[in-house]
Amino acid sequence: MMDIPYGCQYIDASDIAAVVEALRSEWLTTGPKVPEFEEAFADFTGAKHAVVVSNGTAALHAAMHAIDIGPGDEVIVSPMTFAATANCVVYQGGKPVFVDVDSDTLLIDPDRIEEKITPSTKAIIAVDYAGQPCNYDKIRAIARKHNLSYVADSCHALGAAYKGHRVGALADMTVFSFHPVKHITTGEGGMITTDNPILAERMRVFRSHGIATDHRQREKQGSWYYEMVELGYNYRITDFQCALGISQLNKLPKWLARRQEIARVYDEAFAGFPYVMPLSVSKDVLHAYHLYVVRIMDKEPSKKRESVFKHLREKGIGANVHYLPVHLHPFYKKRFNTSAGLCPVAEQAYEQILSLPIFPKLESCQQEYVIKTIKDIWS
Ligand SMILES: *Cc1c(COP(=O)(O)O)cnc(C)c1O
Repeated sequence: MMDIPYGCQYIDASDIAAVVEALRSEWLTTGPKVPEFEEAFADFTGAKHAVVVSNGTAALHAAMHAIDIGPGDEVIVSPMTFAATANCVVYQGGKPVFVDVDSDTLLIDPDRIEEKITPSTKAIIAVDYAGQPCNYDKIRAIARKHNLSYVADSCHALGAAYKGHRVGALADMTVFSFHPVKHITTGEGGMITTDNPILAERMRVFRSHGIATDHRQREKQGSWYYEMVELGYNYRITDFQCALGISQLNKLPKWLARRQEIARVYDEAFAGFPYVMPLSVSKDVLHAYHLYVVRIMDKEPSKKRESVFKHLREKGIGANVHYLPVHLHPFYKKRFNTSAGLCPVAEQAYEQILSLPIFPKLESCQQEYVIKTIKDIWS
């Protein structure tokens, strides 16, 4: 019996050695591996600054804090995402305003953003869903015109590129996650990249209680004195996690190539197969394929998405659904009075989508089994 998840980490002996070495060092939490990981990550993405935190959700929260989102503020958010993308606005007392997605890509539809902008709108959080970069040019132009911050949730898109430029330096701030199903992992971890030194510094202060100087700086200055300048959190990450992150980042190019190869095999298998329709990919992008998402097109009950999902699970294939649109979660319905009908394109897609297994360790024979099991449903 096969047992194939939809996503899975890749940990090798060099990763383990890197963590062990860090554990044997003098530093467990914030030590030399933190700036080393940040610099390597900034280099990879092409951003000027990178700020590492304890998880992707903390990274989103830090980004909202850095641009002073607060009560009364509205932030435009895509509904086709993990709830954390919108939750970070709520943490700060703001209101997420959902803008429907494009039906071919399930990326936020730039042509629908402006109709939702009000005098209270402060920012746009656009999600590079599944690993495909959004239309950065269009969203940036809208943000500039209305004086909004553009925050990219690129938790799916590490290594992706838009018009030849890696995500990470294309928005005002870009957020990444190092959860085990993402492209690289630190167990739990997150990063924000930005070219803006003021935003970067605010997020560094925010991740450590709002305290202005870190303990290493104090030590250097020979002083015990510190001040808390604003309300922060403990969103720090450990040194041994950063050691893992550095080791993982070295392997990212190879893993991206493998994800793209897996996607190509799925693309070919489903080309001309009318019941399984992969999402479309823009010519302007290099897709990072965190997810491989298809729409199940059959209307017959036994062959609709839910039945296909159950069948695949029975066959040991960990297909998944990403996502229930955020505005349909009970919390959002209660708190913000959202309901079905608000984002019809996302809602209709939600009934049809299925994420198929894709991760660097997926073997070709496993992928062949996934493809055959799916196609057999219609044979
Ligand atoms: C994973 C993910 C997050 C949250 O990251 P965590 O590290 O799990 O907190 C946020 N947004 C998106 C789109 C994600 O996929």
